[in-house]
Amino acid sequence: MLHFCQMDSLPFQYQKRSFWVFYCPICKRERRSFYWPSPRIRHYAALLITTLVFTLGLWRWFGFKTVFLGIPLWAIFEFVYRFKARESLICPHCGFDPYLYKYDVKLARDRVAKFFEAKNKTPEPPTPNSNSNIEPDKDEKS
Ligand SMILES: [Zn+2]
Repeated sequence: MLHFCQMDSLPFQYQKRSFWVFYCPICKRERRSFYWPSPRIRHYAALLITTLVFTLGLWRWFGFKTVFLGIPLWAIFEFVYRFKARESLICPHCGFDPYLYKYDVKLARDRVAKFFEAKNKTPEPPTPNSNSNIEPDKDEKS
């Protein structure tokens, strides 16, 4: 189902980035994501370097305590990364959310139904009186 590849037909800034290609189970379209379900080793290396830079920069004032600055940095990074990974997996063609499906099938099904409901909603055709400011009577039934 999933395979990893590099493609040369992408814009320049994405050519060296690897991504995974998968198919949406609802609309059967090919999808790709630059985000893996969990961060890669290079992300943790970047986090370590960032922590080291902060530690060296703040060592003068806070000393050894700055090492622990890495923990909230890591938490923020994980939250942002996983949020972006989840956003990248939601299908723009049918609204299918695999994370939500894993958590609650019924909720994911409702989300897809709502997506199609909103997509199929066509704007009302213009009527001869559409330019007038008279609003349709809302109290007809009451
Ligand atoms: Zn889809």
